[in-house]
Amino acid sequence: MAKPFASSADLGEKKQSLEVLAEGVYALTAEGDPNVGAIEAEDFLVCFEALATPVAAREWLARLREYTDKPIRYLVLSHYHAVRVLGASAFGADVIVTHDKTRELIAERGEQDWASEYGRMPRLFKEPESIPGLTWPTATFSDTFTIDLGGDRGDLVLAYCGRGHTEGDLVAWLPKQRIMFAGDLVESQAALYTGDAFHLDWSAATLDKVASFGAETLVGGRGAVARGRHGVDAAIAQTRDFLAVMLREVGAAGSVKEAFERTHRELEPRYGAWPIFEHCLPFNVSRLWDELHGVERPRIWTAERDREVWDQLQS
Ligand SMILES: [Zn+2]
Repeated sequence: MAKPFASSADLGEKKQSLEVLAEGVYALTAEGDPNVGAIEAEDFLVCFEALATPVAAREWLARLREYTDKPIRYLVLSHYHAVRVLGASAFGADVIVTHDKTRELIAERGEQDWASEYGRMPRLFKEPESIPGLTWPTATFSDTFTIDLGGDRGDLVLAYCGRGHTEGDLVAWLPKQRIMFAGDLVESQAALYTGDAFHLDWSAATLDKVASFGAETLVGGRGAVARGRHGVDAAIAQTRDFLAVMLREVGAAGSVKEAFERTHRELEPRYGAWPIFEHCLPFNVSRLWDELHGVERPRIWTAERDREVWDQLQS
């Protein structure tokens, strides 16, 4: 029987868990759906990631409001993907922060990415008509962007670690609390999506930079919160291993179809049961095949190209 396209048949609600990681530091995880977070400053809030629609975001904010009623000054978006940014209007933030490259990617491919992700993961787009349009950052940076949280709360440092899951991912780092929000640069017991990735950079220098912060708690893009140095190291190692297997198997294949079959065979025993594994793999292999054959920047995914690649590789 043919596999249903991407996550189009995944319609079961996921259980959301709000965790307080330290005083004023919140994470909402959801069994493999995109994670979000918030950080309390003395007299304002910083929210991290916006979910796929304003209606989905408002549900998260209602839970956060059980803990704090401070106004939202900053909304930080780790990268341009639709399921993380299109809920932004619900936050009413004074400032929306991304990396420079994320702004460029939204301009270049934001519309196509919206259509592509909606087709792949319709369940995440709760009341899609509530989306007012593309989300545009109002502040961007190239290297680091520091927010003073006031009092004795320390800083929140937004940092670029190199090309990885996309061309413009940032991590949010709390040096005092040693907590990192890593976006999709690190996944903890969830499959990687690499359809817009730079596998060679990500698997080496970029993950080295992420690891160099020495986080003791890490919230990845999907999956459970990684706790303790051992847990954080394991999440980073899992991410690196997934990429290393892909690089080895796609690199050894003579065709994109063979690349898919080899990669699936090698990854499935360890990662096959993790969220979105089957969904992601055709898109991942297609991009890595391109990357290893001289296509510098990821080709733009459209709803049509998604179906073509799916039919070619997952059928
Ligand atoms: Zn992403």
